[in-house]
Amino acid sequence: MRCLVTGVAGFVGSHLAERLLADGHEVCGVDGFIDYYPRYMKERNLEGPRSWDRFTLIEGNLLTLSLTSLVEGVDWIFHQAAQAGVRASWGDEFGLYVDCNVLSTQRLLDAVLQTGNRVKRFVYASSSSVYGDTPILPVTEATATHPVSPYGVTKLAAEHLCSLYYQNFGVPTVSLRYFTVYGPRQRPDMAFHKFCKSLAEDTPIRVFDDGQQTRDFTYIADVVEANVRSATTATPGAVMNIAGGSRVTVRHVIDLLQEVSGLTAHVSYEQKQHGDVRDTFADIGCASQLMGYQPRFSLREGLANEFESIVALYGYKQRSIA
Ligand code: NAD
Repeated sequence: MRCLVTGVAGFVGSHLAERLLADGHEVCGVDGFIDYYPRYMKERNLEGPRSWDRFTLIEGNLLTLSLTSLVEGVDWIFHQAAQAGVRASWGDEFGLYVDCNVLSTQRLLDAVLQTGNRVKRFVYASSSSVYGDTPILPVTEATATHPVSPYGVTKLAAEHLCSLYYQNFGVPTVSLRYFTVYGPRQRPDMAFHKFCKSLAEDTPIRVFDDGQQTRDFTYIADVVEANVRSATTATPGAVMNIAGGSRVTVRHVIDLLQEVSGLTAHVSYEQKQHGDVRDTFADIGCASQLMGYQPRFSLREGLANEFESIVALYGYKQRSIA
């Protein structure tokens, strides 16, 4: 298959591109190298995909690129590009979130139409942030959506656009609501990345809120598998929760990290941040039924892999680690 992966230099996009290439597909990746985090990390993310002849990279912004030429002849589109991050989405930065998350998605969907709507699947990376704080857990796809951050508002708006293009024009979209993704190459603004770094540097781990907040964490390889199944198996028009089946407290994560690293954590508990939800927990029955999705990786295994990757990324000396 000919695949287009947007946001290919990012955390999820780079892993997905590697998997598609390993499966024998042709991958064109596009990325604007938005400077939300350092470019050298994204260059490193691309080392795997770049080792394949069947990979091409187009550097450019989805807001300004000619998208019809990008989409022409493509079978599967995996739209991972977005301005991520909940806390940074307040204030002046909101325009960037609207541009990258809403307008870019609409441009891409429209390019599909303009080129004759020939794609076989358009998979959109949505987010658990569309739910906000919900009184009843676990959430199903029928749970009302009440985002509590501007980021969540833009992810939901783009998800609605995908549904509209499916309902009105038959663009075969599938939206995947990822629940906190973790593993090697996780973005540096994300909690596990920061926790691993603090642990290895012997500096305090900063936890916002009391550490009893819970998350349903999803290992990166499970998210990649869900994307592949969305292209091969899922029904167009579907919206599905993609989660790891390991809802735990942040305190438990820190305990596990200490175990897998052999290091002792110093933790400081600080004020809850605006836009953070208290708990997330997904019902994944829909993804299981529609495409046989089941998370395969345990939190312990995933955390060990992420810790190892952070040690390698920053070049920490092994002697400081038990
Ligand atoms: P990331 O920041 O690592 O990757 C996103 C990439 O998209 C970046 O490399 C960025 O340069 C690129 N990009 C952004 N706007 C662009 C534009 N207008 N044109 C071209 N490139 C652009 O983020 P990630 O963690 O890999 O997230 C991937 C997707 O998954 C995003 O859509 C995000 O909203 C969604 N998601 C992620 C998580 C998570 O836990 N990581 C959870 C829920 C949803």
